[in-house]
Amino acid sequence: MNPAPAYDVVVAGGGPAGCAAALALVRAGRRVLLADAGTGPPKVGEALVSAGRLLLADLGVDRPVLATGHLPCHGTLSAWGSSQLQSVDSLHDPYGHGWHLDRPLFDRRLRAAARAAGADVAERTAVRRPDRQPDGTWRIVLRGSADRDGARTVGCRWLVDATGRGAALAMRAGARRTTGDRLTAHHLLLDPVPQDPQDAPDGRSLVESDRDGWWYTAPLPSRQRLIAYFTDPDLPLATAHTQGDEGFLDRLLATRHVSRRARPHGLTALLRPPRRAPAHTAHLDRVHGDGWTAAGDAAAAFDPLSSQGILTALYTGLSAGEAVDARLRGDRAALPGYATKVALARVAYQDGHRAVHAQETRWADRPFWARRHHTPHPTKGNHTP
Ligand SMILES: Cc1cc2nc3c(=O)[nH]c(=O)nc-3n(C[C@H](O)[C@H](O)[C@H](O)COP(=O)(O)OP(=O)(O)OC[C@H]3O[C@@H](n4cnc5c(N)ncnc54)[C@H](O)[C@@H]3O)c2cc1C
Repeated sequence: MNPAPAYDVVVAGGGPAGCAAALALVRAGRRVLLADAGTGPPKVGEALVSAGRLLLADLGVDRPVLATGHLPCHGTLSAWGSSQLQSVDSLHDPYGHGWHLDRPLFDRRLRAAARAAGADVAERTAVRRPDRQPDGTWRIVLRGSADRDGARTVGCRWLVDATGRGAALAMRAGARRTTGDRLTAHHLLLDPVPQDPQDAPDGRSLVESDRDGWWYTAPLPSRQRLIAYFTDPDLPLATAHTQGDEGFLDRLLATRHVSRRARPHGLTALLRPPRRAPAHTAHLDRVHGDGWTAAGDAAAAFDPLSSQGILTALYTGLSAGEAVDARLRGDRAALPGYATKVALARVAYQDGHRAVHAQETRWADRPFWARRHHTPHPTKGNHTP
């Protein structure tokens, strides 16, 4: 007979979803290992909407996680559907302001909170090759980036895939991933500007659409500025050359509002080619199966225009943690209930996505906008092999 597994649950992925799941599980008395590979491109310039504070408070970590190091975000400006700026101010938000996050700091603090609550936390450690045992438990390979002597294995009763957009573990367990579009971010950081105490920086983010996509810019806690352009990979953005009519730099300089915010930072950084990151909508055909559950971007990833990614990751992570705990107590309705919550979040997102893109009619004949004006129903899409 196999010995009892060391853990009730192994959570793969130490982003917001994995940390929220680990916190919910450990608070329910479960033995939890949270393993974070720490791979993937650095996440910069991300904002947490004000409602995020409520979920962090539900997890009991709002104060330590949001304490210092992030910038308040007092609203959003947008030139969308017209070249005139519209403002959505956090003064009218019942939850107050949001935050321009120092994302690595935010994630580190979440993992520290999970550790303080009683989870074992393995940083720079990837979960690999989960193997279902005849007795229904998992054997899991843990590989640390600094492991010279190979890997170690641990046992657990349940596996949570919170590995982000790749959803590698859920796919290995047989789930299929569907993508709704091919949105790609092209982003770079502008050099910091010294802060003039007489001239407090405008803490609002800004969105500005153009004929082939949309721009986003936001200040960072480091006093750098993020500039990002979101478009489809087959459209004419010559990312290898930052100049030329269709290039990143000339397109940026042609914007009415984003360019004004970029100029004080100097244009040197803009001569470097921007980095690329996938930013498409995607979801799994099922978010739980035999001994596993997916949460966060692994379960459903949203277009960053929604600003809902981190909030949804916290929400689905917390909900998945609660559902897995209930399932381990024998409640067979818990995980189908969780799947319904994820499906409802997706439908709300798709409705919002459709409505927002319908407001931009100036370039309706251009492929980027035509594709989004005729999006398929949420239950349809393209299967990723
Ligand atoms: C360009 C861009 C801009 C965005 N801007 C915003 C924004 O302003 N506001 C917002 O709310 N959302 C934004 N998002 C979305 C947001 O980044 C995600 O929704 C959020 O990070 C999802 O959290 P997560 O915990 O599911 O996954 P992630 O944050 O991706 O975390 C997954 C973790 O799992 C780890 N991992 C991967 N494989 C393994 C493995 N095998 N074993 C162990 N660990 C593993 C990774 O290293 C990573 O640390 C943006 C996304 C993009 C692409």
